[in-house]
Amino acid sequence: MIRTFQYRIKDSTCGAQLNKLALACNQVWNFCNESQEHALRWDQQWPTYQDLCKLTTGSSKELGLHSQTVQAVCEQYETRRKQFKKRKLRWRGKRSPGWIPFKASGVKVVDDTVRYAGHTFRFWKSRELPGPVKCGSFSQDSRKRWYVNFVVEMPEAEATTGTKHIGIDLGLKTLATCSDGRKIEAPRWYRNQQRRIAEHQRKKRSRQARNLQAKIANRRKDFLHKESDRLTKECELIVVGDVCSSKLTKTNMAKSVNDAGWAMFKTLLSYKAIARKVVYREVSEKLSTQTCSGCGAIGGPKGREGLGIREWVCGECNVVHDRDVNAALNILRLGHQSLALK
Ligand SMILES: [Zn+2]
Repeated sequence: MIRTFQYRIKDSTCGAQLNKLALACNQVWNFCNESQEHALRWDQQWPTYQDLCKLTTGSSKELGLHSQTVQAVCEQYETRRKQFKKRKLRWRGKRSPGWIPFKASGVKVVDDTVRYAGHTFRFWKSRELPGPVKCGSFSQDSRKRWYVNFVVEMPEAEATTGTKHIGIDLGLKTLATCSDGRKIEAPRWYRNQQRRIAEHQRKKRSRQARNLQAKIANRRKDFLHKESDRLTKECELIVVGDVCSSKLTKTNMAKSVNDAGWAMFKTLLSYKAIARKVVYREVSEKLSTQTCSGCGAIGGPKGREGLGIREWVCGECNVVHDRDVNAALNILRLGHQSLALK
């Protein structure tokens, strides 16, 4: 399993050096773009990764970069051009967040320092690296802070010892309701901090606004990591409704949807499930709130108007349902069905 570990660089002292290296990387990138432009203008064959490498041979010394960094930039240029199906890519300028890729042989990690092209950068070692570095990069976030990212080959995660089968209904009021009745509350940091962000923006304090936004994003990520971790450790089957957040974000519910971070939660769940050998399924959640999980009759709250109804009684079997738990039970049932079909 391949994973990336990110550490914050102590950039108050070495930020300037990194900025310089990043500018050199931009030069390489823009050179690739120029070559591409040239090929387009003269109707020549587009330069491949190998061509770009040949063209940039020998430039690393002058630029103060490791030769493999130059190659990695060329490689990334070709990958991006193919990925986005573009004839040309954007130029990288002073405003682009810094980025310096490297290969394993280009860096040396000793304790909390990383040596690269004759420079030594210290970082906050918040946790141990679990294995040797394969490759990585230095990168800058929107706050202009520097990080070092190590791509590491990890030993396989232990398979789950959990035995629970759980259906999950993703919602707005509660982030997720599990079929065993547990509710994972969506923390509403964003909502709470929004007034402060708006105030920063109004007073043109964009740096503070950005800082606050980054902080909220970090906390949300941390929360979702913990929840998905716990679930994949406890379960052997996880079924999630196929709620489409991109559709909802266009409605007036956008803010709470973004806050909840469903998409990220599902991504985290699915990749952790694979690592721990948990069976993960997504099923259609159509009618999942309306169907009675006891007898299968359809009589539950409907559509947008029914959103306020938290509890209802089935007309057929007279069972009192919690709206979300009932939906989660239905989702779990659909998951079991889809497994039986396979
Ligand atoms: Zn019923």
